[in-house]
Order: sequence, then structure tokens, then C-alpha cells
Amino acid sequence: MLVAQVIVPRPVYGTYSYQVPGSFQNLVRIGVRVQVPFAGQVLVGCVISLSNEAEIDPENPEIQSSGKVFRYKEIENVFEDFSFLSADDLELISQISRYYLVSPGEVLSLFLPRYQPKSSKLYALNFDLTTCLDRIPRSRKKLRQGLIRFAMGNESSIGRNELLEKTCWGSGLLRDALKLDILNEINRLPELEMCRDADFDLSRDTWPALSKQQKNAYLAITNSSETVQYLQGVTGSGKTEVYLNLIYDCLRLNKNIIFLVPEIALTPQFVNIFKERFGDQVAVFHSKINDRQKYLEWKLLLEGRKRVVIGARSALFSPVPDLGLIILDEEGESTYKQDTSPFYDARRVAEKKAQILGAKLIMGSATPSLNAWSRIESGEISCQKMNQRHNQFDLPKISLIDLKKEFKAGNYSVFSGELKNKMQREINKGNQVILFVNRRGHSSFVMCRKCSHTLTCPRCDLSLTYHDSDVLHCHYCGFFVPKPSECPKCQSKAIKQFGLGTQKVESFFRKEFPGVSMARLDTDLSSKKGYTESVLSKMRNKEIQVLIGTQMISKGLDFEDITLVGILNPDSLVKMGDFSARERAFQLFVQIAGRCGRSSKKGEVVLQTYNPEQKIYEQLCGYEVAQFVEQELNIREALQFPPYTRLVYIESNSELQEKALQNLQRLYKILIEISKGLIQEVYEPQPCPIPKINRRYRYRCVIKAKESSEFWQELEDVRKNYRSMNRTRTKFLVDPESLL
Ligand code: ADP
Ligand code: ZN
Ligand code: ZN
Repeated sequence: MLVAQVIVPRPVYGTYSYQVPGSFQNLVRIGVRVQVPFAGQVLVGCVISLSNEAEIDPENPEIQSSGKVFRYKEIENVFEDFSFLSADDLELISQISRYYLVSPGEVLSLFLPRYQPKSSKLYALNFDLTTCLDRIPRSRKKLRQGLIRFAMGNESSIGRNELLEKTCWGSGLLRDALKLDILNEINRLPELEMCRDADFDLSRDTWPALSKQQKNAYLAITNSSETVQYLQGVTGSGKTEVYLNLIYDCLRLNKNIIFLVPEIALTPQFVNIFKERFGDQVAVFHSKINDRQKYLEWKLLLEGRKRVVIGARSALFSPVPDLGLIILDEEGESTYKQDTSPFYDARRVAEKKAQILGAKLIMGSATPSLNAWSRIESGEISCQKMNQRHNQFDLPKISLIDLKKEFKAGNYSVFSGELKNKMQREINKGNQVILFVNRRGHSSFVMCRKCSHTLTCPRCDLSLTYHDSDVLHCHYCGFFVPKPSECPKCQSKAIKQFGLGTQKVESFFRKEFPGVSMARLDTDLSSKKGYTESVLSKMRNKEIQVLIGTQMISKGLDFEDITLVGILNPDSLVKMGDFSARERAFQLFVQIAGRCGRSSKKGEVVLQTYNPEQKIYEQLCGYEVAQFVEQELNIREALQFPPYTRLVYIESNSELQEKALQNLQRLYKILIEISKGLIQEVYEPQPCPIPKINRRYRYRCVIKAKESSEFWQELEDVRKNYRSMNRTRTKFLVDPESLL
């Protein structure tokens, strides 16, 4: 009896065994998707191994006397005649599961398509024509004629539509034919139609010639055999051309490529360049692609018809056979971290994947993460540098504006006098301007000026955010109410929104620059289908002169007429009170600054702050990436934060407040027990910075341990065996970037 060991997409450790029924014996292989019954549900899992087990004899008196006849449940369905997962993928799943303390099943969900294709039907004659005709009553003329026409075609089997066309039957007649048992209906599962035509006819003769610094970087990377390498190039240095040439070489060696970007919607230029250079071999994965499209693209990859994947972090899990190269652009971006379950960091997973498959990983950025930087410093990763912008264009000059002075001088606009003048100047010249605002509607909370009562979400106790439509939203759970006309506490009418959001900047802009074409880009708007693309194409066609946006607009944009960037409220980012806040802020500012002056037109950046004396701004103005990073690393080392230690964030939540806390305290005791002498620090259980989300109370504790510590093995065991208390849930988050 053939038995398959299956992992299912559930937060459970361990594999489950199912008998393989005879009809599936030829189909079930390692890596195949199967439908199985599991705890009263039907799940799609994946076969990870097969074994032959002795048939269990239900007549066996021994088993009967024990009162239990053990039977395996059966695999209920197989979806395709090929595997999405290779043995290497299974190894990667296991490593991710161990490192991030997530069950293999949850990791598996990243690797399997969600779409289930319908199997198509094939039809064949069950007997020779004469025997078939004997079975059909003489009166059924249409049935007989149709059958004869089909038999004359001499095809062993054909699809349903073809059959109906040939026979001139409707579905009623087909049903009758099946009832008479003259036709055999066969299920046909999707199969791979491998691409056989392997001639390489791509030419790069028409590509732009590499500059000297690009050529040096390209050759150094090509000639190195190291698995992980870094390309550090200032914004606009031309990293893309280097990547494209590396990809070309890889294709020529008959190997395939994954190219990761932090955010795919914002990088249409990238996608266009890739399509220009590599034609229809490029598979693009963005969030708007639906499950079926993704399934079909994955199949094309397996068939070798598409060979270059480009997408955000999840594209890493596309089934790319013969992977030769992973390129990860803008390595410092925190969007490479997935902060919903299963938690993972694409940078780390990409490295593991490259190691397992023997592929190369090239990471690139102007501002490496502290983690990458410290590995470069220690010589663990080699790094190629490109310190010049392409064509020797200058990096834009960054100037600081002291907002305290503006306020004293009676300027209550969101634009300082200097920024306003410069905006006017560039607009008059016909150039383009970008205004960066931290986060959508971030601090536009609603407060009563009289009693300072702030409106909060009843489910999360968080400030509600004001939106244009006079509605107040909770950004965490989606709760919303109409904006009240008076304060619920003191009934004063002086209730008003505060803070700076993109919408507020927009309304100031419209007042102060009437008639100037502008657009806004933030996560509220970009979720509308086609919106982002349309704004970007209007930017390109110069239908828009001013773009106001959040984090979203910091990446990738490459427009030659952008000459001015305004950074309006950087302080809230820098002062977030998180161990990684400054790193992320610096990264972001360099990226945003990099959006201007990318052509012969000079670029300029104006940063408005209440704290111009902060070191980080000084380092930003001088593009002192190395100094900034070294200083940050010193602070991290002194406080023993990553990359000098690793953190685990453990959260317990429940609708019952005391249960949430009890559950965490119980777990905390276990952790203290196992960690004696092995860890750096355990922060005691405390309410999360957001203590309640969507009716659930949240408590957390944070553990700090050295990478090398034996503690990790112990923690893995705890994770596997710990059962959360009734009505509570426990979450483990490994290597969190933020403790807020
Ligand atoms: P980065 O990714 O390093 O910020 P890009 O790859 O976007 O920089 O390149 C910046 C600009 O320089 C782009 O407009 C690009 O077309 C141009 N460029 C880069 N390399 C070359 C080259 N070898 N020849 C011509 N133009 C180039
Ligand atoms: Zn809420
Ligand atoms: Zn009030």
C-alpha cells in the first residue's frame, strides 16, 4: 500500500500520512499538490515523501481484539500532473520554518498557488465502432451519426468542445452517450508542456555601453565565485544596467533569474526596461495579479517559457527551475520583511535559497542595511562600489530649514518661506517637484481644543484619523465614524483635526499654488486599481507638475525633470523611539533625495525640521552614509541590539485581558527556565505599544540572544510544543525590525 506523507497549510508541526488510492498512484510524487481531509476540513497540502506500508488486514484477530482497526485516510484529489515544489524547495521550507519559528505548513503556503485548475475531460470510444453502434437504438439517428463522424476522425481521444463540434451533439446527447457506456470520459490534469526550443538568440549589441565604473563592478561580480555579493552605488549611479548585464549572462548559461524590488507598483520603468531587453521571457508579479494568472505564470516558469521573474518579496517563492541568480535591489528597504504571518525577511530567505540551489545572490543599494553593512565591514560579503552618478551628475544638494523659526516668524503654512520660493521657481521653469509627507494621514488625529479630548477607536484605543470625507478611520482595525460636530466630552464645537497628512498638504498646496497641476499618491489611493500607474504616466507626460506622496514615492521613480524634493515632516520618523527608526529614516531620506537631479538638470532637496541640530540631518546633507552607519552600529553595539544580537518578539492576545496576560506569563516562565545563562535579556511581559487591536488585548515580551547561543534550539522546541491557553493566541516574531 502506497502511503504519502503530507504537510498541510496549518500552524501544526509534523506531517500526516494518507493512503494513495489506485487511481492516483501514477500521479502522486514528491512535491505534488493534493487534497486531503484534515480535522473535519478539506485542505490542499503537499506530498513530501512516499513510503510503502504493509497492508493492514482488518481480519487480523490481533488488531480486532484491541478494538481499533487503524486505517489511513485517503488522498481525495490531485490537481496536476507535475510538482510545484522541488526537493530543494522542501529543504528551504524546512530551514525557513526553523529559523522563523513558523510551522512548515504555514511556510508552505508561500510556495503553493492558491488557484485550483479544473481538470479537463477527454473522450474516447469504449469499444470498436460496430460494437458501439449495436448499443444504440436504431431510432437515435443523431446519436448514431455523430458517433460515426467521431470514429472516422481516427483520434484516440478528444476534448469536450471538439467532440461536441464533431458530433453535432448537445450536452444532452453527450450525456446519453455516456449512459449507454459507448464513450469513456477521462479526467485530464494540467501537464507541463516543456519549452524545447533552447536556442539563445538574444543580443545585447544595442544596449547602452557600460561606463567605466559600471564595467568594473560588473566584471568584479562576474569573476567572483562568492554566493553573496553587494553592489553599493549612489542613487542614479546606474545599478540597473549592471543588473541587466548580469541577467543576460545568466540567461546565456541557460540559467534563470529572480529579480526582487521593494515595491513593484512603483517601478513600471523597471518592468518596461526588462520587457524591452528580454521580451516575453519576463514574468511580472505584482499584487494585482489574480490567483489564476499567477498559476498560469508559474506554470510557464516551470515549462521554461518564462525565465526572468520580477516582483516584490513574494516573487522569491515562484517556482524557477535552474535558478542561477537572485538580484535584490534596494536591499536596505524594510518592505523586504513580511510582517504578517508567516513572518520572514526576503533578504535572509534569498540568501538561504541561493545557498541551497548554488545560485548567486546580488544585493544592491545606495544605503545598505546595518546588517549588510556590518557583514561587508567584517569581510564576510564583498562589495563593489559606484560612487558617481551616471554621467557625473551631482547628487542633489540638501538644505535644512528650521521650522521653529518659521513658526516664530508667523508662517503657519506647511511650506517654509524658502521651500515655497523654490517651488515657485521650479514650477515656473516647467520642472517637476516632489513633496514627501510621512505616512498617510499619519498624525491627523481629531482633538478638542478646549478640553484636549482626543477621539479614539473603541476597539483599539488608538487615535482615529481624519479623512477628507468627514469620516474618522482607525488604521488598524478599519473602524470608522462620521466626524462629530461637537466634542463628546465637553460639547464644545472647537473640535478639529491636527497634524500633517498628505491631504492637508494638498489643500495648502491648492490654496498657495492655485492652478498648478498636482497629484497625490499614498496607500489610500494606490489601492484603487490603475491609480498608481495613471499618476506615474501623467508624471512622465508632464501632465502633473507636483507630486505629493508618502513612503510610496521614495522608490524607483526616475524622471529627468524632477528638480526639487521637499521633505515636510521628517522628525516624526527619526524620533519614533524604535531601535531601527533612525536607520529606516536615513534610508528613506537618501532614497527620496535621489529622485531628483537624475539628468543634466540639477536637483535640490529642502528638508523642514524642528530639530536641525540632529546629527542624522548633518550626515544626510553630506551623504555621509559610512559615518551614519558606523555611528548607528556603535549605538546598536552599546545597547546590544541587532545586528549584535537577535530579537524575538512574542505576543499573546485574547479578547479576555487577564487571559492574554496569564498566557504570556506562563510562557515567560518557561523561557526564563530554558534560557538561564544563554540569553542576553528577556524583557518582562507588558502591554503592547498598541494594547488592543480589534477587540483583542495584546501583551508582549521581547528576548535578546546572541546568534551563536544554544538558546535558539531550546526556543524551537518550546515553539513546537507550547500550547496556548484556552481563548488565547500566541505569536512568535523572529528578527522584528520594530518593537512598536
Ligand atoms: P540607480 O538604480 O543606481 O539609482 P539607474 O540604474 O536608475 O540608477 O540609472 C540612472 C540613470 O542613468 C537612468 O536614467 C539610466 O537610464 C541612466 N544610465 C545608467 N547607465 C547608463 C549607461 N551605461 N548608458 C546610458 N545611460 C545610463
Ligand atoms: Zn480600531
Ligand atoms: Zn472637549
